[in-house]
Amino acid sequence: MLRYRIIPVTPFAQNCCLLWDDAMREAVLTDPGGDLERVLGIVAQEGVRLEAVWLTHAHIDHAGAAAEVARRMSVPIIGPHPGDQFWIDALPEQSKMFGFPRAETFTPDRWLHDGDQLRLGTLHFDVRHCPGHTPGHVVFHQAEARRCWVGDVLFAGSIGRTDFPGGNHQQLIDSITHKLWPMGDDTVFIPGHGPESTFGEERRSNPFVGGT
Ligand SMILES: [Zn+2]
Ligand SMILES: [Zn+2]
Repeated sequence: MLRYRIIPVTPFAQNCCLLWDDAMREAVLTDPGGDLERVLGIVAQEGVRLEAVWLTHAHIDHAGAAAEVARRMSVPIIGPHPGDQFWIDALPEQSKMFGFPRAETFTPDRWLHDGDQLRLGTLHFDVRHCPGHTPGHVVFHQAEARRCWVGDVLFAGSIGRTDFPGGNHQQLIDSITHKLWPMGDDTVFIPGHGPESTFGEERRSNPFVGGT
């Protein structure tokens, strides 16, 4: 069974998440942007074995500590999509700009593409490429548990910013309506910031994509 624990990190309260398969005790961390001592403390507390880092996109608050986790825990970095290469290269500048501890660049052990599958213990996740907030943004969908990790594509009551380099508003709307909505109204999504919601609730009430 899929279990997860949301761990808000960095001054941006980014939802880093520890996901694990209860049967196998295998775990991954999504978007470890920072606050690594606390994050790794929770991994130890849950008694799970960390297998990988999964990245939705390469903004500093999501990817800032990815290289350090990979090195310290000897795990691969998986994702995002190659469209975010320039954001990975810019991690040291991003950390300076936002006053974060110096972030290291890295080369993902595996780039992700639309339609890829990821395994965690006995569980399978579908990868969808959802550009718009960043060109290489991906989301992780676990169909049986009806859960989706969407990074900064969609929030409860809002959508991701598109005013950064490589951002594109129409592309973001298309990603939400063509890639996320088909997962079903009862799918709970875990956004990069703020509380969980369902796609159905956002289709009803989100001022940016309501009624789509
Ligand atoms: Zn972002
Ligand atoms: Zn973010």
